[in-house]
Amino acid sequence: MRISSYFGKRNAPTAGAATYHTGIDIPAPEGTSLFAVCDGEITFTGFLGGGGYTITLEAENDNVKFTYCHVSPNYIVSKGDKLDKGDLIGYVGPKYVYGVLGNQYSDENGIPTNGATTGCHLHFGFRINGKYYNPLDLFSFT
Ligand SMILES: [Zn+2]
Repeated sequence: MRISSYFGKRNAPTAGAATYHTGIDIPAPEGTSLFAVCDGEITFTGFLGGGGYTITLEAENDNVKFTYCHVSPNYIVSKGDKLDKGDLIGYVGPKYVYGVLGNQYSDENGIPTNGATTGCHLHFGFRINGKYYNPLDLFSFT
């Protein structure tokens, strides 16, 4: 597995992308399966600005949240679902999305993108009480 963008300060890879990166980016083809990193509850599914189509998983009994961004809009989970660690949670989404109301992100040709993204990848974020931490402090991805 390769990480294309680490947590923290960076040069924005595309217009509108954050210069302080609140997660890590893992390039993967569209349709790649994504799994729950812990037992928890789905607290959000939807289009979220620069994150594009997003899934939020909240760890049980804690204000610990994991976000999966730029995912497929064909959600297999919905808000309120309880998942076990390792359950399928969704899929890596397409680079381009069409017909999303209020989507302000697009590529250099004006084609609307799945949030601030230059290609298919998972943006994975980790928050405690609203503050972002480096997921690599918690997990080792190998
Ligand atoms: Zn990212």
